[in-house]
Amino acid sequence: MGRIHRLPQSVVNKIAAGEVIERPASAVKELVENAIDAGASRIDVVIERGGIDVIRVIDNGCGIAEDDLEAAVTSHATSKIADADDLFHVQTLGFRGEALASIAEVSRLLIRSRPAEEEAGHEMTVQGGVRGTIIPCSAPVGTTVEVADLFFNTPVRRRFLRSTATEAAHVAETVAKIALAHPHIHFTLRHGEKSVWALPPVERTVDRIASMFGRELADYLIEVASEDGPVKIHGFVGHPQLSRSNTRQQFLFINGRPIRDRSLQHALSEAYRGLLTVGRQPVAFLYLEMPTDMVDVNVHPTKQEVRFLDGGRLYGQLLGTLRTRFLTSDLNTRVPMPEIADPHEAHDREKILEMRRRVVDWAKGAAPWLAAGESSAQAGTSLGRPAETDVVGVWIEGANSDDAARTAHDPLTTGRDTNSGGFAEDMSPDAPADAAIGEVSSFLDGVHDRSPRQPKAIQVHNRYLIAESDEGVVVIDQHALHERILYEQLRRRAEEGPLESQQLLVPEPVDLSPAEATAALESAEVLAELGMRVEPFGGSTVLVLSRPAMLSRLPPSELLRMALEPMMAKDRAPGRAELIDRILHSMACKAAIKAGDRLSEEEIAALLEQSRDVLDAHHCPHGRPTALIFSREELDKHFKRV
Ligand code: ADP
Ligand code: MG
Repeated sequence: MGRIHRLPQSVVNKIAAGEVIERPASAVKELVENAIDAGASRIDVVIERGGIDVIRVIDNGCGIAEDDLEAAVTSHATSKIADADDLFHVQTLGFRGEALASIAEVSRLLIRSRPAEEEAGHEMTVQGGVRGTIIPCSAPVGTTVEVADLFFNTPVRRRFLRSTATEAAHVAETVAKIALAHPHIHFTLRHGEKSVWALPPVERTVDRIASMFGRELADYLIEVASEDGPVKIHGFVGHPQLSRSNTRQQFLFINGRPIRDRSLQHALSEAYRGLLTVGRQPVAFLYLEMPTDMVDVNVHPTKQEVRFLDGGRLYGQLLGTLRTRFLTSDLNTRVPMPEIADPHEAHDREKILEMRRRVVDWAKGAAPWLAAGESSAQAGTSLGRPAETDVVGVWIEGANSDDAARTAHDPLTTGRDTNSGGFAEDMSPDAPADAAIGEVSSFLDGVHDRSPRQPKAIQVHNRYLIAESDEGVVVIDQHALHERILYEQLRRRAEEGPLESQQLLVPEPVDLSPAEATAALESAEVLAELGMRVEPFGGSTVLVLSRPAMLSRLPPSELLRMALEPMMAKDRAPGRAELIDRILHSMACKAAIKAGDRLSEEEIAALLEQSRDVLDAHHCPHGRPTALIFSREELDKHFKRV
């Protein structure tokens, strides 16, 4: 080791830059936060090539005076705090005074600004930490900071950057978080020619959430609020029906600052215990406000983590707020649940919720993830007004399985109208079961046409639905029928054009075998028609950028694997149409209710109603039968009545 010496300022700055500026998104975060601190009411962000080539942040804030420009890009120079005491009363997002200096150290930076009271603006460039001269220029009031060639002089850091799409996704997420915390500020984000966010100012947080994640998601949010002394919690959490496979839609803000906090995240999942199936994550937008001296924001270089004066109490407050809210709100209002005699039957309850959500959404074609306004109207009726289903005949009398079991014998014992004829009469009792399967759809038609008679169906073994009609008794395989319905819906939609796709906020890399990766990329076009965009990600990893909106509840990796399955078939390479068909089959199978899922009367009714629209309901796409029919004659013969 040599003698100890002071590092040159440029090295110090590069070290600081390494901590604060990890990727384009970190620079965007710092620049946008500066704009907010400057009191901007509008902030426009433009990036080129994921922000690696260019980041431009334009604000209409207070601007920087000519003689402050140099200080702005000097490290540890800030207008926001003056002494150490201030560190515990930080009212602004920034205070460390090193962001601009750090960014300027590892890029070519241009800063142009004009305070409101000035006639003209001034600009200055800094290239890899080397300052140029300040020159006057014309400029609107506010500040524009342009960052070009990020990490041009730190090649190692540059090599750590991921693909354009991934970096752009990080930027999108960064801007999203900040925009969620400041609904009254107008934000836009453009990536090249593409508009990523266009968020006009709104009064209410929930409207910002709606404009970012869709009105349907917002409709499924439950508002929460509480006060514990000076600590206020306000926000929105997802109805249990709105769960996700990861925590990316959990947003937490302290005093307008997006943060991560394990403990509070734990409180959140704790509050949902018993309401979500294992592995599912709630959606949450939680805003905490507290005096600045109750939270230390100076514990993390990028200020993404904070330390609370009384973390335990905060944990308790959040958990308590959510629990009380759940206990006092009718979580069933969206879709009513059968009575559960024992409130401790949480397992059943959670399962029922999950299943009901899936089936009712699907079967009614009113899935909350469909973007069109029309679908939200439908969602309102189908989810909010269960009585609707009476029109097509409620199939189970009695809400719980005991009641269902009690009514089970009804179809066989109650007297019935004179035989109305139909296919059953022509059937030989000895006909093989397959022949009996022939006419399920018409069978169900008969059922629906006679709604005043209130035909009944029950679920047995959480697998089969047994229904009665004039013709006889039909046993339906719930999975097979639902799969068929989904398949038909998907196929019809696919015929109309590409399926609606939902862009992922953060693209998901999926590790595949080399053969699968090749197949995925070769079929990128076909996948795109199905709403799934994929990109190479190096090696045999493929990046999923979007997924079919209709299947937005399945994790992208699962969807991709599902789509790849039929492509990997040994026999021969399927043609395009066949491939799409197979993928749709595979998706329908995965998304359908399973054998073992307990269904409510609503779901059963919805399922059977949908089956009418499915022309070919008697076989599930895998070729297994959907239903078996026992004609009355068969039964009579069997029981030696004739
Ligand atoms: P910090 O935000 O921690 O103070 P920065 O390096 O981000 O440090 O910014 C340094 C200073 O430059 C700020 O304190 C502020 O006075 C000024 N500044 C930076 N960006 C803007 C902006 N967009 N509008 C007005 N002033 C700005
Ligand atoms: Mg700053």
